[in-house]
Amino acid sequence: MGCPMLKIAFFFHLFFSSALCISRDSQGFEQASGARTLTQEIPHNHEVHCSRERSRVAWQIIEEYLMPFVDQEEYQLPSKCRLHPDNDMFREQEQHKVHVDTNEWRCGFCKKSFRAEKFLDQHFDNRHYVLLNNTHGRCLADLCGGLHCDQMSEFKKAKKCNPAAVARNRHQCEGLADSCFPVSQGQSASHLHELFLRQFCDAHTCNGKQKPFSRGGKKQSSVFYLAICVLTLMLLPVFYLLVFLHQREMKKGIQDLKRIPKAGRKTKPS
Ligand SMILES: [Zn+2]
Repeated sequence: MGCPMLKIAFFFHLFFSSALCISRDSQGFEQASGARTLTQEIPHNHEVHCSRERSRVAWQIIEEYLMPFVDQEEYQLPSKCRLHPDNDMFREQEQHKVHVDTNEWRCGFCKKSFRAEKFLDQHFDNRHYVLLNNTHGRCLADLCGGLHCDQMSEFKKAKKCNPAAVARNRHQCEGLADSCFPVSQGQSASHLHELFLRQFCDAHTCNGKQKPFSRGGKKQSSVFYLAICVLTLMLLPVFYLLVFLHQREMKKGIQDLKRIPKAGRKTKPS
């Protein structure tokens, strides 16, 4: 008697957990706020021990502060270089994110929509995890120390400098320079090797004098030029208004000057 009851209970358990799985995804858009708790409740055995957020930050840094120079030199990153796009396990998923609108993110694989990027991330983790090739050396987040990810995130408030951590990060940074831009590979590689050391590795020190990304980035400069343009456009009307007011004052002054001699003549005794 006990055995069939157990079977029925097990069947119900299976039924409800699979029903939960299906509803979790289909309601991703409508029930965005509830999705988080649901995902936390359901254990999945395809755990990926690599932070997607940190990997994304690392990728942003590479894209902004390194790739413009790599493109400029027309250099091909070797496949063993950990900064190569193929060595980021999230790259394929990230490239299949469609940001339709402020509150709409779409999965490029199955076209489902979500209210926020984090729900699309959860969807990728649950539905398209087979794409995550979790072999060693493909977690970009592991390079965050060397690439100054904390510098990019909002919570970068100055902590006390730890010389051991700094030395470790510097070592990782120099290792990246050597493997991605081997100086034996020619002039472009040598240039980029030097640039990588200046741009990323020099700032791994406790003296606080060196700042990373000294050469700036593509986006930063375009934002800078955009700001200059907007400022110019805003100041232009003010400039013309000042010129107009100045000219009006000048005219008034000339008229007053013209009037003075006339008045002077009248008072002169004849
Ligand atoms: Zn999908």
